[in-house]
Amino acid sequence: MVVENHLASKIVQSSKVKRVYLFFTKLLTFQQYDNSKKMAIKITEECINCGACEPECPNNAIYEGGVEWRFSDGTTIKGIFTSKSGLTADADTPEVPLSMDVYYIVADKCTECVGFHDEPQCAAVCPVDCCVDDENWRESKEELLAKKDTLHLIMQD
Ligand code: SF4
Ligand code: SF4
Repeated sequence: MVVENHLASKIVQSSKVKRVYLFFTKLLTFQQYDNSKKMAIKITEECINCGACEPECPNNAIYEGGVEWRFSDGTTIKGIFTSKSGLTADADTPEVPLSMDVYYIVADKCTECVGFHDEPQCAAVCPVDCCVDDENWRESKEELLAKKDTLHLIMQD
């Protein structure tokens, strides 16, 4: 009986330790994730094609459905360019539209407005709140700033 009680107590203790360990691991993961990672923005099917967001984008990352996009549109990118996601293309070559029906955002050109504004301008002006976080794209503020610098090289004499 004494041995059984001792064993039971060990198991309880070990499961307690395990729960505490898991709790702190989750907490740490959440904090790292929450503090350092941001999401890119995407446009959902709720878009009503009002066009309000397109001129607000400092990176020319927003296109009307069915319209081809280019790396060179609204940026200083020239020649053969490899994006952060690994897409290599001539900057002036028209690329296939990412949506045929509603406005869309080219994530490789979106910096969440980092380097220009305090908040994503497309989301700020959208009348139906369909510019939302894209869970497939996570970038730190530093990565977004580096992307912005790549899109807009400062010309020097
Ligand atoms: S978040 Fe900013 S950079 Fe990204 S698509 Fe919207 S307006 Fe353009
Ligand atoms: S502002 Fe919103 S509804 Fe209008 S085109 Fe842009 S994403 Fe669509």
